[in-house]
Amino acid sequence: MTLTPTRTEVEALLPVVGGDTQVPLLDGSWVTYANLDGAASTPALQVVADRVADVMPWYASVHRGAGYLSQVSTALYEEARTEIAAFVDAREDDLTIITRNTTDSINLLASVVPGKVLVIDVEHHANFLPWQSHPQGVTIVVGSATVAGTLDRIEAELEGETYALVAITGASNVTGEALPLDRVVAVAHQHGARVLVDGAQLLAHRRFSLRETDADYVAFSAHKLYAPYGAGALVGRADWLDAGPAYLSGGGAVRQVHLRDTTWQAGPARHEGGTPNLIGAVALAAACTTLAGLDEQAWAEHERVLRERLVAGLESIEGVRIARLWVDSEEPVGVLTFTMEDTEPGYLAAYLAAEHGLGVRDGRFCAHPLLARLDLPLGAIRVSVGLATTGEDVDRLVAGLRAFVAGQIKGDYRLVDGLWHLENDSRPLPQIDGLLALADTAGLCTSD
Ligand code: PMP
Repeated sequence: MTLTPTRTEVEALLPVVGGDTQVPLLDGSWVTYANLDGAASTPALQVVADRVADVMPWYASVHRGAGYLSQVSTALYEEARTEIAAFVDAREDDLTIITRNTTDSINLLASVVPGKVLVIDVEHHANFLPWQSHPQGVTIVVGSATVAGTLDRIEAELEGETYALVAITGASNVTGEALPLDRVVAVAHQHGARVLVDGAQLLAHRRFSLRETDADYVAFSAHKLYAPYGAGALVGRADWLDAGPAYLSGGGAVRQVHLRDTTWQAGPARHEGGTPNLIGAVALAAACTTLAGLDEQAWAEHERVLRERLVAGLESIEGVRIARLWVDSEEPVGVLTFTMEDTEPGYLAAYLAAEHGLGVRDGRFCAHPLLARLDLPLGAIRVSVGLATTGEDVDRLVAGLRAFVAGQIKGDYRLVDGLWHLENDSRPLPQIDGLLALADTAGLCTSD
């Protein structure tokens, strides 16, 4: 039986750096790493890494310096901004601000929103915490078990009070599900509120258009978009951004500084204080342009096949329960979360890594309020599929889980300081200068 898509088909769609990296298992054998954790961070596309290598010899200061290389670098930075804006189909007068990641983008927007904000309890902490402490106030709507019911609750809240902004995820980082954006935008606009879409997950899986959705802002991260070079973006309406305080006070954000007062820039420069991340911007732009050039149907089909295979495989295993946010939600992106009866997620994740070469995520996915509502206080396992995932990766996960249920567990796993790890781990380290040991995750894993 062929496992669709095969490694060759995936490579043909878009090769990534490290797509064939071999990792050691505890029995001494080696396998190709199956990265089922792209929802946390994706590998770099080969075209992105190539672009970075091409640009590097031309690297010099951006927006500072009359030297030839500075002029080249500044032009590349501004061209990257244009490509990033095109990727989300920005309107002519939208601003595109290059940030560090989605978290940074949302904190930036939070610093300029001039009124009360509405969020629902399904959000990633990045789209929750900046609002929880918002000086103009926040209402947190608890989602219902259906899309329709959740939309009704949002609408009821918007009818009862004036909001400046509805901040909503484009796709849940826990279940891959989403509310229909067009409906959220329509109801928000009807009541005079703007909409921020947290695009961190959505944009790695689907085309997104500010113009078509009529959403006001979108925030996203390059490291989830196959361009892990430290950039992110916030794209959207200029007025609040031009009126609000500079997000990062410092060089580049100002027109004139006197001893006691300062005239600030308008436009992206106002919020991009300090030396810009040229390599991050160029990498993100290369990923944006490459993803925009993908055949949309082939991309969707690739993910649909993988997700269906994954769901069917998981459903065939006794004791596995896939978490759902909304029973009536349509076409989730390639992210899902499951639990296995009577099994600690961290233990299962450590076993899958050491005995099957699989990278999955366990924990509460920076979505504590949602995990509490879903009655998953101890967390769960998240699996995500994307451009670099093969059918073999998914089948290996399912086979690994079956072996686990059958008791075929070779390693001895211990819980130390709340984190599971393999005892007597003798897997060899890769030959990377300076790497002395695998991370002893206890104390390092800050993102539960
Ligand atoms: N929103 C969602 C939906 C996410 O999945 C994530 C990352 N897991 C973020 C925001 C935050 O992204 P970053 O860590 O890149 O800032």
